Amino acid sequence: MRILLLEDEESIRGFVRINLKRNEMEVTEAETGEAALELAGTEGPFDIALLDVMLPTISGFEVCEQLRANYPRMGIIMLTAKSQEEDKIHGLELGADDYVQKPFSPGELIARIKSLYRRMSSEPVGSIDSTVQGGGDKAGESEDLLKAVQVSNQSFSGSYDLGQAPAAAAAPALEVRIPPFVLSIPERKLWKEDREIILTPTEWTLVRLLMEREGASVSRDHILSEVWGRYYVGDLKVVDVNIRRIRQKIESNPSEPSFIETVWGFGYRWKRGARP
Ligand code: CA
Repeated sequence: MRILLLEDEESIRGFVRINLKRNEMEVTEAETGEAALELAGTEGPFDIALLDVMLPTISGFEVCEQLRANYPRMGIIMLTAKSQEEDKIHGLELGADDYVQKPFSPGELIARIKSLYRRMSSEPVGSIDSTVQGGGDKAGESEDLLKAVQVSNQSFSGSYDLGQAPAAAAAPALEVRIPPFVLSIPERKLWKEDREIILTPTEWTLVRLLMEREGASVSRDHILSEVWGRYYVGDLKVVDVNIRRIRQKIESNPSEPSFIETVWGFGYRWKRGARP
């Protein structure tokens, strides 16, 4: 895994570098936003960028925005010093996948990086079974999950490419088709009619989660644990911010969404598509 680390404080940079290297990650360091942007071009591609926010010249937010524009599939984690809500959300709105609040422990940072990296690989989104066994702390959540599993199994069987050999029927679907969308799992791509919708690693994982459970309401808690990881300690707002960003990309009118519905007080649902 190749990491681009932007941090102006030498002591923090050193601390992060040592811990990344210990976990067999390759680190390229930048002290300024300008240097980070340049390195992204000359030394890339990087899997994940870690971006400090408070910097002497251009801020980590600006770097995030530019990296996101140039490298839509790169993973981005903001290292935020402020505890202000707006700060955390602002990075996510600009396209960051996650944020880690300073001071952070090496374990926390590494866990977030690994969780993001899983989102970027073609591995399954996570095991629903393990979440059920883990026992949601809210009564009824497990039941909802089971419903989601049942519904997702139904939509799986409806999504198989009819041209595939029968042996493939037991394997997970490689494509989810909900007109006008086609989600290709091996390619990690989403198309709306003939147009590819460019998604960040986090957006893609979230879209996959909802599309595979077409028609089922998925709770924000469940989305958070499936997409960001079971032990994520962050805010449920990361889910809403990502949904908002996805809607801007896929909906004709994001304020009146016709594909991703809000289930008030609960979560979100990918509207069941018309059956041929
Ligand atoms: Ca700083």
